[in-house]
Amino acid sequence: MTVGIVGAGQLGRMLALAGYPLGLDFVCLDPAADAPAGRVAPLLHGAFTDRRLLARLARRCEVVTFDWENVPAAGLEAMVRAHGARIAPPIAALATGQDRVAEKRLFEKLAIPTTRWQAVSTRRQLERAMRTIGLPGVLKTRQLGYDGKGQARISSAADAERAWRALGAAPLLYEEWVPFDCEVSIIGARSVRGELAVYPLCGNVHGAGMLRLTRAPFGPPRWQRRAARYLTRVLGHFRYSGILTIEFFVRQGRLIANEMAPRVHNSGHWTIEGAATSQFENHLRAILGLPLGNTRALGHSAMINIIGHMPPRAAVLAVVGAHLHDYGKRARPGRKLGHVTIVEPTARARDASARALLGKLAAGVRIP
Ligand code: AMP
Repeated sequence: MTVGIVGAGQLGRMLALAGYPLGLDFVCLDPAADAPAGRVAPLLHGAFTDRRLLARLARRCEVVTFDWENVPAAGLEAMVRAHGARIAPPIAALATGQDRVAEKRLFEKLAIPTTRWQAVSTRRQLERAMRTIGLPGVLKTRQLGYDGKGQARISSAADAERAWRALGAAPLLYEEWVPFDCEVSIIGARSVRGELAVYPLCGNVHGAGMLRLTRAPFGPPRWQRRAARYLTRVLGHFRYSGILTIEFFVRQGRLIANEMAPRVHNSGHWTIEGAATSQFENHLRAILGLPLGNTRALGHSAMINIIGHMPPRAAVLAVVGAHLHDYGKRARPGRKLGHVTIVEPTARARDASARALLGKLAAGVRIP
C-alpha cells in the first residue's frame, strides 16, 4: 500500500520512517530537490500546484496526506480524487488551519476558549482593534505564518506603525498578548473508522516564536482532560482522520487555544521513543483505517530542537539515553535541523538530562 505525502520535510521523512515497518510505501512531492523526505522515499520534484505531478502522485497512492499546512488547499482534493486516491486529513481542516481567522471562528463555534481577536485589513481597523482589545497585543498575518514568522508584538503607537509597515500588505489579525504561565499542546488521532486516541499533554517552551523544548507528560490531569475534550470536539467537527494538534496558552489554570495544526506536530516528536506508538505511526494507521496504537507514555520525555547549527554527532550521543534525529538539512540560522529526545523514569531525572542536553544544544533555553 502506498501513501503519498504532499511536502517532503522532516515530518514527511518521519512519517515514512514510521510506515516502513508496517509494510507501507511512500511517494512525496516537494519543490525542493533536497527535501528531507526525499532521502528516504521517491520524490516527485516540482510545485505543489503542478497538476501533472499531483496526478502522478495520486495515481500511485491509495491515500494522499500532507506534512505542511500551507500546501495550497484549493483544488487539491478534486485533483487527488480524480486520479483514484483520497486525501486525509480532510481538506476542510487543512483550509481552517491555513487561516488564523477561520481557526478562531472554529474555536468560538466549538466553545473552545481562545484569545480576544479582531480581523484587520486596514490601518484604521488596526487602531480600532488596539482600542477594543487593548495593549499589549500581537499583529499576525492570517496566512502563511509559522514559527513566529509573520507576527509582531505591539505595546505602543510606534510599534503599531512598525508592525503595520512590516505586515500591512497581507490580511491580518490582531489579538491580545497573553501573559501565559506556560504553553501546552494536545495531540490526538481519529481514524477513518471514528476511533480516537489522545496523547499525554505536552509542555512547550518557545524562543523567538520557535519551539525549543517539549516535555511530556505535562501538567495536572484536569488540563489533560480539558485539552482532550477540546481536541475531540474539533476531531468530531471535521469527521477527521489523522493526527490533529491544538496549542494552548495556560493562564491561571485556564486553557486558551492559540492555534491548531491538521498534521503531526513538532511537539509530538517525543512520541517516537517516549510513547507506545508514535504520532507518525498513528497518523498512518488513522488515515488508512487501521486500528490505532496505544498512546501511553513509556516514561518522562524531553525533546529539544536543534536549530541553526548541527552539533557534532558524538557530542550528542555521549549523553546517555540521547536519541538523535538529524533531518539531513543544510544548516541555516533559524532553521530546524534535527531534534534530540530523552526518556527517563521520573520527571526529575528527565529535567536533569534535559538541562545537560540544553547546555550542548540550546544554550539560553531554560527549563521553567
Ligand atoms: P504562533 O505562530 O501563533 O504559534 O506563535 C508562536 C509563539 O509566539 C507562541 O507559541 C507564543 O510563545 C508566542 N505568542 C504568539 N501569540 C501570542 C499571544 N497572543 N500572547 C502571548 N504569546 C504569543
